[in-house]
Amino acid sequence: MFDYIMTDAQKKLRDEARAFTKWVPRQLILDMDAEKIQFPREYLQEAGRRNLLGIRLPKELGGRGLSWVDDAIVAEEIGVASYSLACLWGVGADIVCEAISLFGNDELKQAVVVPLLRGETFAAEGLTEPRGGSDFFGATTYAKKDGDDWVINGQKRFIVGAEGADWFLVYAVTDPDAPPHKRMTAFMVPRTTGVESKYIYGLMGVRGGGAGRLVLKDVRVPERYALNGINGGFDVFVRMMIPERLGTAAMTLGSVRPAIEIATRYTSKRKAFGLPIQMFEAVGFKVADSVMLLDAARSMVYSTCLAVDSGKAHPNRVRRLVSEAKKFVTEAAWEIANKCMQTVGGIGYTNVYPLERIVRDIRLSMIWVGSNEIMQLIVQNEWYKEYFKTLSKEDVRDVEADAVGADAEGEKIYE
Ligand SMILES: Cc1cc2nc3c(=O)[nH]c(=O)nc-3n(C[C@H](O)[C@H](O)[C@H](O)COP(=O)(O)OP(=O)(O)OC[C@H]3O[C@@H](n4cnc5c(N)ncnc54)[C@H](O)[C@@H]3O)c2cc1C
Repeated sequence: MFDYIMTDAQKKLRDEARAFTKWVPRQLILDMDAEKIQFPREYLQEAGRRNLLGIRLPKELGGRGLSWVDDAIVAEEIGVASYSLACLWGVGADIVCEAISLFGNDELKQAVVVPLLRGETFAAEGLTEPRGGSDFFGATTYAKKDGDDWVINGQKRFIVGAEGADWFLVYAVTDPDAPPHKRMTAFMVPRTTGVESKYIYGLMGVRGGGAGRLVLKDVRVPERYALNGINGGFDVFVRMMIPERLGTAAMTLGSVRPAIEIATRYTSKRKAFGLPIQMFEAVGFKVADSVMLLDAARSMVYSTCLAVDSGKAHPNRVRRLVSEAKKFVTEAAWEIANKCMQTVGGIGYTNVYPLERIVRDIRLSMIWVGSNEIMQLIVQNEWYKEYFKTLSKEDVRDVEADAVGADAEGEKIYE
C-alpha cells in the first residue's frame, strides 16, 4: 500500500506482515510448488500465533477489529511470499469466519472462528460445482430436512484447502421450487461422516494449497449450522463476495510486486550492446508501465476499501467497485507479470528466477472468485441501474446539449 498515506499504526501493521512473510521458509514455497506439500498447516498456525488471521473480525473472537484498508495493507504483504499461501490465509479467516461472525450463532463462533483465528483449526469454502461455478444458482448440491437435521448430498470442486480443512462452508439447495435467491442455504459442515476430500487437480500454478474435490454423501448437519437460517444463503453469498473479491485484489498486488523488483534489478545490471538494458526504452518502458499499473491497481484497491469502510456507499455501488477492483487489478497483474518476464529474457522463463511461478500463479486470479467475465457482467448491470436510478438525476451540467447540432432532434434516432 502507499506508505505516504499510512498512519504510524498502519506502518507498524505492515511491518508485522512483512516480518511474517520473511519468516516463511523458502523450502515450504518450493515444496508447495512441487506439490510435495498439499496443505501447509504450519504456515496457518504461525499466522494464528502472530494474530495475523482475520484482522477485521471483532477482538472478542480473536481478530483485531481493524478496517478494510488495514486488511489490504496486510494482504498485499502476505501475497508477496506466495499466492497459494495468501489464498489459504484469506479463505478460512477472511471469508468463512466473516460469514460466521455476521450470520452464525455463538456455538459456531466459538467452535470455528475462535480456534481458526488462533491457527488451530482450518476452514474452506465450497461454492463451485463440477457442472459450473459462474452459474451459482444452478447448484445441484442439495439438502433435505430429516428431523432436526439436514442431510446434504452433492459435490464441490476446486476447493482451496479442502485437504486440510476441519470445516466447510457449503452452499446447498434447500427449496428447489423457490426463486433463485430464496432456494439456497449456507451450511457450516464439519469434517464428519460422509465428507470426503480428494486432492486430484494438477494445477498450472497456486499449488500446494490443497485445492480439491469435496464429495458430500448423506452428510447430516443440525439446522443451527445454517448461516442466516434455512434459505438465507443468498445474503451470505452476496456479502461474502466482498472479502472474496476485494481480498483477492489486495493480495494480488503483493504477489506481482516481486516481479517488478526482480525486473528492475535485472535490467539495471544486465548489459547488451554495451549498455544496461534498462537504457533501451523498449525495456525500461515495460518496467515503467508495470510500476504505473501497480500504482493504479493499488489506488483502486485503496479507494474500494475506503468505500466499504465508510459504510456510506450503497451495497450495489460496493458490488460494482469490488468487481471493478477484482477485474482491473488481476488483469493489470497479468500484464505486469508478463512485461517483467519479457524484460528478463530467456532466463526469466526458467526456474532460475521465480518469474515463471509468478506468471503461473497470477493467471488464476482472472478465473477464480468469479471470473473476470462475471465481474464485467456485474459492473455492466450495476452501472446501468445506478446511472438511471440516481446519477442521471444529479444536478450536473448536461454536456449532451453542448454540441452545435444539439437541437437537431430529428437526427437523434434511437430505434
Ligand atoms: C485453483 C482453483 C481454486 C479455486 N478455489 C475455489 C474455492 O476455494 N471455492 C470455490 O467454491 N471455488 C473455487 N474455485 C472455482 C472458481 O471460482 C471457478 O473456477 C470460477 O468461478 C469459474 O467457474 P467454472 O470453472 O465452473 O467455469 P464456468 O462457470 O463453466 O465458466 C467457463 C467460462 O465461461 C464464462 N462464463 C460463464 N458464464 C458467463 C456469463 N454469463 N457471461 C460471460 N461469460 C460467462 C466464464 O467467465 C468462463 O470464462 C477455484 C478454482 C481454481 C482453478
